[in-house]
Amino acid sequence: MSGINNLSSVSSPSTVVIVSSGGSAMPELPEVETVKRGLAPQLAGRRILEVTLGKTDFVDEPELLLRELPGRVIRLVERYGKFLLLRLEAAKESVPSRDDGALLVHLGMTGWLVPQAASQPRAKHTHAALLLDDGRELRYVDQRRFGRMAYLDRDRLETELRRWGADPLETSRPEFERRITGRRARVKALLLDQRVLRGVGNIYADESLWRAKIHPAVLGSRLSKQTTDALYHALRRILLRAIRMRGSTISDFLDAEGLPGEYQRHHRVYGREGKPCVRCRSLIERVMVAGRSSYVCPHCQRPPRGFRTVGLDKRVRNPNASTGKRNALRRLNSKATRRAQGFF
Ligand SMILES: [Zn+2]
Repeated sequence: MSGINNLSSVSSPSTVVIVSSGGSAMPELPEVETVKRGLAPQLAGRRILEVTLGKTDFVDEPELLLRELPGRVIRLVERYGKFLLLRLEAAKESVPSRDDGALLVHLGMTGWLVPQAASQPRAKHTHAALLLDDGRELRYVDQRRFGRMAYLDRDRLETELRRWGADPLETSRPEFERRITGRRARVKALLLDQRVLRGVGNIYADESLWRAKIHPAVLGSRLSKQTTDALYHALRRILLRAIRMRGSTISDFLDAEGLPGEYQRHHRVYGREGKPCVRCRSLIERVMVAGRSSYVCPHCQRPPRGFRTVGLDKRVRNPNASTGKRNALRRLNSKATRRAQGFF
């Protein structure tokens, strides 16, 4: 079922990058950073010889990939929020038309990018294969195709990158404060909104809110300077620590060396519904905030006045409710919904 079953087809661990994340979790800043660090030394300087595409409903203008990628050299691999960017060298012989550009990849929920020997059979659900000049193929494997792939020339790349908010690891404290407290939206929604901050998802939003003792339903505009400071530092500390531990493995995320991440062992609230808060021993609860399930300590994170957990989605709580799950999946599957929820 999940792409991880194809692990057997993967070659030596040192040449492998697999990213997959099950359930409702998806790779966030630390996981994408981990993948980037694994891929960068393997791909930098490699020339793309040929492009093969399978299903293309997750690709913006697939014909651009087929036309623009062959012959181009991958200059470097970067992370931008939850995106991977393969920066490309301009082709030498054609100055005006083939400018610097990049291949942008979002792994969605179940996507993985893996360089493998071209002679090796492609795994099921391989939807893009870039033949490289070292005899390997960079393969994009994704069962659900919630990801995104696009070739962007220099101008379009600039426009695309301008759409997204600040990287929490690069932004200053005053800039963070301006972005979070200037809005009358719930702080959880603000953390997840990629136009406000880029790279944060459900896991690290919940963990940092718990650390800073902020209920996710509090309005950003209601946060004091002191509380915003606490959130800024909590978020950065948590993201940096998670990067050091190669991200969180919720179900089957594996990093560049084929190892699972370690950070899930350090989750304090995420996924701990019904377990005692490590700070006060109250039982962790799951509540719906801004349409997303959120883990909170009811004692450490006081809800704003008027907030009640009546919005709790019973279908999400009931693991056997397959109709609810199907509906949730259908909602997720709409690209507009995914964008609105800050996936990308
Ligand atoms: Zn607590």
